[in-house]
Amino acid sequence: MTTWDFDTKAIHSGIDPARHQGSTSIPVYGTTSFAYDSARDLADVFEGKKFGYIYSRISNPTVAAFEQKINALENGVGAIAASSGMAAIATVLFSLTGQGDEIASSKSLFGGTLHLFNRILKKYGVRIRFFDPLDLEALRGAITSRTKLIFVETIGNPRLDIPDIGRMAKLAVENNIPLVVDSTLTTPYLFKAKDFGAAIVIHSSTKYITGNGNTIGGVIVDLGNYDWQDGRDGELKAMAESIGSDFAFLSLARRHILENTGCCPSPFNVYLQFLGLETLSLRMERHCSNALTLAELLKGRPEIIEVNYPGLEDDPCFETARSQFGGKFGGLLTFKLGSRERCFALIDNLKLVKNLANLGDAKTLIIHPASTIYHDCSKEEMAQAGVSEDLLRVSVGIESINDIIADFEQAFKEAC
Ligand code: PLP
Repeated sequence: MTTWDFDTKAIHSGIDPARHQGSTSIPVYGTTSFAYDSARDLADVFEGKKFGYIYSRISNPTVAAFEQKINALENGVGAIAASSGMAAIATVLFSLTGQGDEIASSKSLFGGTLHLFNRILKKYGVRIRFFDPLDLEALRGAITSRTKLIFVETIGNPRLDIPDIGRMAKLAVENNIPLVVDSTLTTPYLFKAKDFGAAIVIHSSTKYITGNGNTIGGVIVDLGNYDWQDGRDGELKAMAESIGSDFAFLSLARRHILENTGCCPSPFNVYLQFLGLETLSLRMERHCSNALTLAELLKGRPEIIEVNYPGLEDDPCFETARSQFGGKFGGLLTFKLGSRERCFALIDNLKLVKNLANLGDAKTLIIHPASTIYHDCSKEEMAQAGVSEDLLRVSVGIESINDIIADFEQAFKEAC
């Protein structure tokens, strides 16, 4: 129901018990394929004359339930689940670009996305023009007649800079190009991508959507803000003319890219993500309040050179974050300790906080990005992403804040 509030949709959307033997939790359809009584029926489904499932690389009822739930939360026209956040990003980029095309992208990006741009898309003849996400004029300068999309993270990971997405969306409209946002750090709970004018929103559902670090996944939602029939891309225009603008991108992304690259999700992984979505708002509230408390506390510590968290009132992105994310600021913070050695010593002395490469887990996590996620990046790429040798990134979990604070305090005492 489109009129339900977010929390009600999170629990009830995507499943109709009458279609699943009365089950209120989505069954895991662990099957590759779907059998039909007659050859004509299966042929009709292949030809699109009848609705039906064919093969789980294309679609599956468990996966479809998750797609419907996240689409309801984003108020979109439809969603596509993928095997990971990177698979979701790749599916969007391969759907929207080809040889000779350009992307205007924020330079503040997660390492995997940066590699996808610099090492893969470039090889296939797509040019990336990077811009500073806090500088609208820089974005204007990065758009040319060949630009097929604007790409930006709602909160840059790990730089934690926050673009003014509403103004970017206006610029996208002026130039008739879709604005694609990676809202992994904000989730549909903090950021209403449709209201801010984005065309497509992407999430790594590995993170807050699953919420406990037990599965990898990604999802794409077409928000219905962009008219593909009127757009710059010939293939999408033709598709929109034949099946309507609402389904043009989704159909191309699913049937041309996801189906043929095989980056489909496993129904069991999606089942876990479906369950995760039900409690997203409760968890996000706790992630955000714990992160703010920890950031304020770290700011007062003499060993720390700089704390970055958009919820700190002197943060340059505080106002943008406050107005875009409903007065909340996410669960990620970074701080600088002066040297790689001091960072390693702190990590080695933490007991509760886990040292691993993920974020958006119920558990509090820490990582030294320069020696891990960005270890094979050039100095320029690291600088572009805001990664330095003395930077630590913390994904604040939903444990008791007292225990998180106590763990940091004892580790600082031992290490610094
Ligand atoms: N986008 C952002 C902002 C991320 O932080 C990540 C992973 O950390 C991804 C995309 C990629 O997601 P996945 O690891 O699910 O492929």
